Amino acid sequence: MARKIVITSGKGGVGKTTICANLGMHLAQMGLRVVLIDVDIGLNNLDVVMSIENKVVFDIVDVIENRCRVRQALIQDFLNSNLYTLPSVHSHSAVLVTGENIKKVIDNLATFFDYILIDCPAGIDAPFMRAIFGAQEAIVVVTPHLPSLRDADKVINLLLSRGIKHIGLIINRVRGDLIIEKEIMTVTDISQALNLPLLGVIPEDDKMAAGLIRTNSAGAFRAINMSAKNLHNNTDKIYDCTLQFKGIFGAIKRSLKKNIG
Ligand code: ADP
Ligand code: MG
Repeated sequence: MARKIVITSGKGGVGKTTICANLGMHLAQMGLRVVLIDVDIGLNNLDVVMSIENKVVFDIVDVIENRCRVRQALIQDFLNSNLYTLPSVHSHSAVLVTGENIKKVIDNLATFFDYILIDCPAGIDAPFMRAIFGAQEAIVVVTPHLPSLRDADKVINLLLSRGIKHIGLIINRVRGDLIIEKEIMTVTDISQALNLPLLGVIPEDDKMAAGLIRTNSAGAFRAINMSAKNLHNNTDKIYDCTLQFKGIFGAIKRSLKKNIG
């Protein structure tokens, strides 16, 4: 039976969709059967990040409104046969898309997969509430900035009030140079402030802008791989974003970053 995990944040643009896709890919590479569900209805980011937007025939709204069966709407990743996406491409807001109906779809898929990762919309109102309805666990994504942490705090309280107590934290877009320069909070400070166990720390990395990082060529790839292993094996190995900025060469990199901005 699948673990049903919602990837959420409160604030938009912190990297939920990017992390949902990359985390799913790493879990799938570990041999687990994974489905990513886009519940950010109408904004269809997940299909773009997964590069499947041209393959979408049916989406989650079609499943809920009985125009197709869920299997017809699933799109398999072109490289990893363990990885599927249930997209959302409808631009109109569909009246039947309730938390209960999304949960039915999730429960229907649960017997066929090991992981169901639910990509949640931003905000804390109705679309957020329906997205978390079918989840049993959550991953809260934050960036090391105050507005993101404030929103995350609200989200955590809402998750707890809905009975979702198994919550992990991913801190995304971390700049190790700024941690060393003491210009942003450390990852330990953030984890303690939010009172959540740290599942992963992902560096700011231009390669993430492309969506899925499929090869081990970036710090973010290794960082997400560690997070996927932590999630599955209950370990706590965390990527050190400050490492490349330590020592004499690190100091040079830091000053270069400062000068470039
Ligand atoms: P959300 O789903 O929370 O709105 P997205 O996943 O769409 O956020 O990410 C917002 C933007 O930030 C995207 O352009 C994405 O490529 C970029 N991004 C996400 N994570 C990183 C990262 N670690 N380093 C650099 N860019 C990132
Ligand atoms: Mg998103």
